[in-house]
Amino acid sequence: MSDPRRPQRNFFSAGGIDRASVRRQDEAWLAARLAHPSSRFIPVWRLQTLFAADADAEPIFLSAREAEALRPCADSTILLGLVEGRAYFAVGFPSEAPEPPTDLAELGQFQDLRRVAALLDREMGGLLAYARAMTYWHCRHRYCGVCGSPTVPIHAGFQRLCTEEACGQQHFPRTDPAIIVLIRSGGEGLLGRQPTWPAGMYSTIAGFVEPGESLEDAVRREVFEETGIRVESANYHSSQPWPFPSSLMLGFTGRAANHDIRLRDHELENARWFSRKGLRIGLQNGAVRLPSPYSISFRLIEDWFDAGRQGYLRKVAGLT
Ligand SMILES: [Zn+2]
Repeated sequence: MSDPRRPQRNFFSAGGIDRASVRRQDEAWLAARLAHPSSRFIPVWRLQTLFAADADAEPIFLSAREAEALRPCADSTILLGLVEGRAYFAVGFPSEAPEPPTDLAELGQFQDLRRVAALLDREMGGLLAYARAMTYWHCRHRYCGVCGSPTVPIHAGFQRLCTEEACGQQHFPRTDPAIIVLIRSGGEGLLGRQPTWPAGMYSTIAGFVEPGESLEDAVRREVFEETGIRVESANYHSSQPWPFPSSLMLGFTGRAANHDIRLRDHELENARWFSRKGLRIGLQNGAVRLPSPYSISFRLIEDWFDAGRQGYLRKVAGLT
């Protein structure tokens, strides 16, 4: 049984925005949106988002006039899309600049989205994650990977074009697929921890998909490499954009064919089978911690945990 208070869509998905992709090459329409008083601009500097200094997680958007004044020092302006007819843009400022533009620094404080995500509503979390992901792509693709010449943004920021005429390579925004999986064996779930994590923190097994691999292959390989567990079956669960910096997490559940854990590649410091009861007790006495409730990892653990008889994970973890 699932917790009725649980949200349906994974956090950081910008599903509520009309991406207006058919308008990206309509220069007149774009110019009108860039100048329209209802349009809003999301500044991103060093992959950080601007928040009001004196309020909890209140993002600061710029008006068309403010954004226009700052455009000379911005290195990308990207049409994110429309929400109830209002256009939203992301504006990236150079990451190598040691300080943000003074006009922005006076408006608030740049912060890492992950630090404040838990305080944001889902729509805002998705929009800001989308802005972060797009500005990251722009700042990492200023030069052509084929010939090394500078590239320029076109199509409202959804392509970069090589400026060397003989090359003319088009570059498209990319996202890196990574699998993340909760493996079950009987009534137990497999969780691991990396040495750099806070004490007691455990999470599901994750890793990047490699070229030439299906998602199911990646699940089998990662779980076996990290824990020595062979995956008997892997089933798709859901996905989550994870713009830290540019991943798409593809969530799976799987069943284990064996039970003996062996840390084969030593990426993990420890991996353990948790019963639901063991996890509940660990969370309640503070010996075990789980990833943030907005992560797909928490979601996978939650789905497994809530199907047992130890209560709802969000309640057990003191989140509601
Ligand atoms: Zn080129």
